[in-house]
Amino acid sequence: MPDSCDYTVEIVRRRKSSPGGNRKRQPAQAAASPKAISAPWRLHQASGLQVLQLIPFTKFPWLVHGFSTRVGGTSTFDSEKVLNLSFTEWDAKENVLANRCALQEAIGAQEFTLSTLRQIHSDVVHAFSATPGAPCKGDASTTNTPELLLGTQTADCVPILLVDPKKRAVAAIHAGWRGTLRRIAQKTVGRMQMEFGSKPADLVAAIGPSIGPCCYEVSADFVTKFAAQFPDATEFFDEARTGDEPNPLQWLNMKPPGHQPPPKNVHLDLWKANRSQLQAAGLRAQNLYCSNLCTGCHRELFFSYRKEGAVSGRMMSVIGLRGS
Ligand SMILES: [Zn+2]
Repeated sequence: MPDSCDYTVEIVRRRKSSPGGNRKRQPAQAAASPKAISAPWRLHQASGLQVLQLIPFTKFPWLVHGFSTRVGGTSTFDSEKVLNLSFTEWDAKENVLANRCALQEAIGAQEFTLSTLRQIHSDVVHAFSATPGAPCKGDASTTNTPELLLGTQTADCVPILLVDPKKRAVAAIHAGWRGTLRRIAQKTVGRMQMEFGSKPADLVAAIGPSIGPCCYEVSADFVTKFAAQFPDATEFFDEARTGDEPNPLQWLNMKPPGHQPPPKNVHLDLWKANRSQLQAAGLRAQNLYCSNLCTGCHRELFFSYRKEGAVSGRMMSVIGLRGS
């Protein structure tokens, strides 16, 4: 994933009405690939938006959550109305604020204070008991404070939402390849244990839409990077070649003796890597839900940095606890 993936953030204070003023929303378009979304996932349609939700999470009356899609919104991108949720250069701040309000409205969290991070592809996890005065640098946040809406911004990186139904605590994680390599998901579980006494076996995880193994081609040295960190790393790749293997077919392909030329690229499965990491942290397999929705393959629903470039919009995954 490119280096310049810092989605500028700003803390949005609780407000009753949209800062965008006259919000003219496009009617929600029908999802172009409804078949891609089936139980335990659903597309929740509200406020002119379509928000991806994990059905088991909706069973908790005290919880709000959602993974945004690009559908609806007030921003204009390539003459399409989209729900861009980050302060990008091509979009007006008022649009982004209006879009964020629309998302909060759509999931019934309009009274919540949205708290996002200045994402830096790190393993830094913040525990919030109140909204910080200024945006914090980091890539995961956790809280047990009601009406604080944790948000993570992505356009190919993996968004992960965690819920502890016993201790009533939540977390939002941004896991690109760097964060995954630095075990951001595992460290967030550790932080929840420390802060709230969460037991990993109680936690439920939702792995949202991101670039899938089908579209995530990386250089072969990623195999070495991941193998240095994870014993099961070879399972995250379609091919486990590192470029250091001797050429077994020298006589056949007439290549000079020695090593093979640099291998072709490999495909990385960040969903598998994060599932594995969460299981290593103690989560039960049956409590891990992966949407298996690729942002690159479903551009009618999602933004994709890889497919659309730096000017692409950003999605937001949010989670929070209702007040009593
Ligand atoms: Zn794909």
